[in-house]
Amino acid sequence: MGASAGRISTCILIVDDNPDNVTILRDRLEARGYSTLVARDGEEALAAVGALDAPLPPGAVLPDLILLDVMLPKVDGFEVARRIKANRSLPFIPIMIQTALDTTEDKVVGLDSGADAYITKPINLTELEAGIRSMLRIKSLQEEIERQRAELATKNDQLIRIARTDSLTGIDNRRQLEERLVETFEHSRRLQEPFACVMCDLDKFKSVNDTYGHQAGDEVLRQFAHLLRDHAREIDWVGRYGGEEFMLILPGATPDAAVAFAERMRKAVEGRTFSFAGTDIRRTVSCGVAGWPHPQIADVEALIRAADNGLYAAKSGGRNRVERWDTETSTSTDDAAPTAVGAAADTSDGPAGHTLHDLRADDGQHRADITTNTHASDVGGGRDSLGGGRRPAGEDRGTPPGA
Ligand SMILES: [Mg+2]
Repeated sequence: MGASAGRISTCILIVDDNPDNVTILRDRLEARGYSTLVARDGEEALAAVGALDAPLPPGAVLPDLILLDVMLPKVDGFEVARRIKANRSLPFIPIMIQTALDTTEDKVVGLDSGADAYITKPINLTELEAGIRSMLRIKSLQEEIERQRAELATKNDQLIRIARTDSLTGIDNRRQLEERLVETFEHSRRLQEPFACVMCDLDKFKSVNDTYGHQAGDEVLRQFAHLLRDHAREIDWVGRYGGEEFMLILPGATPDAAVAFAERMRKAVEGRTFSFAGTDIRRTVSCGVAGWPHPQIADVEALIRAADNGLYAAKSGGRNRVERWDTETSTSTDDAAPTAVGAAADTSDGPAGHTLHDLRADDGQHRADITTNTHASDVGGGRDSLGGGRRPAGEDRGTPPGA
């Protein structure tokens, strides 16, 4: 097997065990500006395209077309064609079978083996050249289709990424968070492994926009998103749920670990100065934590509601605190009592005995009732998650009426 000049021109692999045939074909094709490779048996032919034992070494030239004799030592031409066409790692290489066998049956076998064209010996060289040009046109159309297909795949990947990314902060958006929550839930259930969800919301964020403008608000959100990502582990998912509300999914984390994590984050935000155009902005964050397994958390929706209720309790309990949603301290099964932790937990000025009722179906809608030891007040709708009439993003939860 030998190569003529390097890859300046279209390369044709001539496969023939008759040296005279090879000489005639090579001289004619090279005179027409093609470069040639030669293989003298079926194994050499397969080796020339990296379809024998080993793939081609890097930098080796793949032929653009194969002119394939049928009667060959070692592996015959039909089998060579079959193996090359069956090899998924190869691009489309047109194969023209050239043989003295010219019965209909032979032509059928040749074409069924995957050959793209058939030319009988003795070869009419003018006819051969026309056939080669025709095959090369098909090859370039095929390559154009492949190129467009690859371009579409790349664009499709980009679109998927855009659809799942929050454009302001560059972290996951709500759609992606919800998908990852479903995946994490399934995974955890399968492995019987805990995981936790932390909802955090910047306190009094609206006043950043009101005081410093929306660009400042956007910058605070970006810096907050980076802070969350810096604090999260490699395996955690961090995303923007909406407005100034962010969610972290912590695979493998127990509720205690998730609370400790949220508490570290809360302190980090408290000690952090966000800066925008020379202005220093200080904010705090409130967090709600819920974990699986929990007897009242049977699905992703319930988990989001629980974390959301924890967050609501953190807001109504004075903000800048972490609340863990739990039902263990409640008496009835559909009551949820957040357990206060963090800064506000060891102070006595919070609304003691705060109990949050939730997960109560009312005409198919879940509503949250806030109950204190003295009286209850209905906070009304807008506390649902997963697209069910949740309160609009970007609005501070504030203190509930009656708290
Ligand atoms: Mg032969």
